Amino acid sequence: MSNGKLHLVSLGCNKNLVDSEVMLGRLRDYEISDDASISDVIIVNTCGFINSAKEESINTILSLHDIRKDNSILVVSGCLSERYREELQKELPEVDIFTGVGDYQQIDRLIAKKRGATFSPEVYLANENSNRVITGSLTHAYIKISEGCNQNCSFCAIPTFKGRLHSRTVQSIVKEVKALVEKGYYEFSFISQDSSSFGRDLGLKDGLIDMIEAVEKIKGVRVARILYLYPSTTSFNLIDTIAKSKVFQTYYDMPIQHIDDEVLKIMKRGFGERKTIELLDRMKTKDNSFIRTSIIVGHPEENSRAFNRLCQFLEEFKFDRVNIFEYSSEESTLAYSMQPISQEVIEKRVAILEEIVRKTTIDSLNKMLGKTVDVILEGESDEHEYLLSARPTLWAKDIDGDILINDTSDLPINFGSIYRVKITDIAGDRLLGTLISTI
Ligand code: SF4
Repeated sequence: MSNGKLHLVSLGCNKNLVDSEVMLGRLRDYEISDDASISDVIIVNTCGFINSAKEESINTILSLHDIRKDNSILVVSGCLSERYREELQKELPEVDIFTGVGDYQQIDRLIAKKRGATFSPEVYLANENSNRVITGSLTHAYIKISEGCNQNCSFCAIPTFKGRLHSRTVQSIVKEVKALVEKGYYEFSFISQDSSSFGRDLGLKDGLIDMIEAVEKIKGVRVARILYLYPSTTSFNLIDTIAKSKVFQTYYDMPIQHIDDEVLKIMKRGFGERKTIELLDRMKTKDNSFIRTSIIVGHPEENSRAFNRLCQFLEEFKFDRVNIFEYSSEESTLAYSMQPISQEVIEKRVAILEEIVRKTTIDSLNKMLGKTVDVILEGESDEHEYLLSARPTLWAKDIDGDILINDTSDLPINFGSIYRVKITDIAGDRLLGTLISTI
């Protein structure tokens, strides 16, 4: 019998999504509902990364409180809650239960107690026993390989509330992946704050390579990729291992944040321009490589020379995808006390970079025209009922977009299956393709 209805909102990154899935696993006795107004328990798993994410979290909490029914329980968990635990408890009396990043595994107990706040001193890291409810796909799952971070990036508060690097063992990851393969999952995205440092806290020199080699041996894993490589812990050997793998995609997600030497030094990124470019060039030489990065615009002391260098580099290198973030000044970071750049200048710079990135993304899509690629047929498209949505196995789920299928060649249609597609055309910023065969 159901304990009642549960509405869960997972904000922020896919690492937070894994924690939300752990909570859903603990609350299996509830019926999941899309409608907060009739739900008995409402959980907002918050993100506290930058200002805009904080605002989104608070607005979500308040708007759900406005529509919730009497006697329902409103729970706030996750990064924002951990980071501003005292302030939020004072300022949001609407919330019944506050919990941070250490208590996902005991959310059922907290809800049974109904009211209060609990913050474990330890950061929770999902493992093979977490028994998550995977959301959003019957074939793809995120696997969190570590939690926390040992880097000291000047702009980032994550280590202050997620703690130092804390890796799972390779065996624990293998067990979880095997169990998911048994349930029909065949595609895995491995995530953490800094994936290339995986295992260093356990004394592993090349932990990520060990993990790749172990996961490759699991029968039933057909597609895998790693997100969040950190420049100074990414080796040529790692880049080459990924390129040689039969199941790991030549997908390189390495947030560089900037390219100018002086800014990289102020950001405390470990590697300067030359070494960062050496890594990127190595990735680019691999067949069929796909390179994604993210950039922070307007960090203190980013002068116009440094910004122009960044623009020039992005124009020349032509990443396949780039995320652009406005610098956000965060308490308890090194950059917090530095002289900020005016918001007006930051916004102008963001607009310039967005235009550059719009063009380089189109260049990346154009390169695929006429090619034949493997895709996962994901469902009907949001464009038109006659168009299907397919994602190249090379692209990350929900991150890199999709291809519209306008001709199925009368093949049997099974959502979640892998097909071979010929890319025939581009309309705006979306590729069109024809299904050629099943795989
Ligand atoms: S690598 Fe840098 S930006 Fe990423 S979580 Fe660690 S400190 Fe933050």
